[in-house]
Amino acid sequence: MRYSGFRIFKEALTGHKGWTPAWRDPDPQPHYDYVIVGGGGHGLATAYYLAKQFRQSRIAVLEKGWIGGGNVGRNTTIIRSNYLLDGNEPFYEFSLKLWEGLEQDFNYNAMVSQRGILNLYHSDAQRDAFIRRGNAMILHGADAELLDRAQIRREYPFLDFDNARFPILGGLAHRRGGTVRHDAVAWGYARGADQRGVDIIQNCAVTGLRIENGRCTGVETARGFIGAGKGGVAVAGNSSRLMAMAGMRLPIESHVLQAFVTEGLKPILPGVITFGAGHFYCSQSDKGGLVFGGDLDGYNSYAQRGNLPIIEDVAAEAMAILPNLGRARLLRSWGGVMDMSMDGSPIIDRTPVEGLYFNGGWCYGGFKATPASGWCFAHLLTTDQPHPTATAYRIDRFARGTMIDEKGVGAQPNRH
Ligand SMILES: Cc1cc2nc3c(=O)[nH]c(=O)nc-3n(C[C@H](O)[C@H](O)[C@H](O)COP(=O)(O)OP(=O)(O)OC[C@H]3O[C@@H](n4cnc5c(N)ncnc54)[C@H](O)[C@@H]3O)c2cc1C
Repeated sequence: MRYSGFRIFKEALTGHKGWTPAWRDPDPQPHYDYVIVGGGGHGLATAYYLAKQFRQSRIAVLEKGWIGGGNVGRNTTIIRSNYLLDGNEPFYEFSLKLWEGLEQDFNYNAMVSQRGILNLYHSDAQRDAFIRRGNAMILHGADAELLDRAQIRREYPFLDFDNARFPILGGLAHRRGGTVRHDAVAWGYARGADQRGVDIIQNCAVTGLRIENGRCTGVETARGFIGAGKGGVAVAGNSSRLMAMAGMRLPIESHVLQAFVTEGLKPILPGVITFGAGHFYCSQSDKGGLVFGGDLDGYNSYAQRGNLPIIEDVAAEAMAILPNLGRARLLRSWGGVMDMSMDGSPIIDRTPVEGLYFNGGWCYGGFKATPASGWCFAHLLTTDQPHPTATAYRIDRFARGTMIDEKGVGAQPNRH
């Protein structure tokens, strides 16, 4: 079924009886050419592009819970391509270009909203760093614009410009950045993949990898053994546990990140803002809730929920630039498990086990990467070569000393 304005009109006139399920619920087959482990955004996008772009067939996505139950349905929905380093910026710009055509491509309303992102700066040194980053972005074909206080005041009158500790001096605007309805991305990719014959198998946890003579021949699951020509792992916060099944110890730690949403308010934030003197980011959903987050909880965990001290920390940062948020009631908070790599950048690579490929280490920036991650992983799975925008994301960069340390904080996963 193709979704369109005409279809909505027709269904409205006929009692909405013609809608069909967005994807099937198939039983697993004994063998597939490609088995993707993890039904998050990255796993589903990989399956979608494998089928659509690379014209492969006999593909399955295995998800231990329900699709969209992981980080793809838990993030703060921000997309952007405002990176500094050569290893990152072309990849994220590729991703942003894919976002720009995604809804037409997979025929699903994911509410892609390029409402812009504004990184606020609070010191002269920070302004210089932002100018450098803006120039790097422009050199890679992205957009960047330095705004002064007066320009920001016109767009965001509710910010606290004269905060005694962190006055707002200006900001770096990235107008093509914005937000996307996160779970609709999972649903859109799932529907698009299913239409092209991909089996999406939920409640099917992978419990082991079958490796014979150095080659991965399939996966043990809660629903029995499933043979695989090639296996791709995209399980985000569970990366270490999954790859331990292949005897690999990853340069990744799992940490909790929380997010928050307030009651619905009248429009006060037209775009996404980030606080430069700490770690706080905020946007307003179409329903009116302020959606925001900050730092990791700061300890290793596989629990999908966080603790109170970080709530206080994030609230304090919010109050430093957006004091009227103190009057809003918090409706919900939740947590997700982040696959924090040692340099803060991801891995899309082959592994020493033949036929086994790995995609992970997205830290808390993997949502914006979803389209490019899926495309590049599908490219690697079919050609055995990295996509030109993802050549830096090799796992051996940690041994070779060619880390992509965007933040410059060293091998400190909890600080990236
Ligand atoms: C609070 C929060 C805010 C964030 N904000 C942003 C943001 O604003 N912008 C941004 O770019 N990124 C953000 N992120 C990060 C982003 O959400 C993740 O990097 C990205 O979603 C990870 O990729 P994924 O969608 O494939 O992960 P997931 O959705 O977590 O998918 C992985 C899937 O693998 C499944 N799985 C795990 N183990 C197994 C197994 N053994 N067998 C089968 N399946 C298994 C899981 O159940 C899960 O569904 C945020 C994350 C959180 C938690």
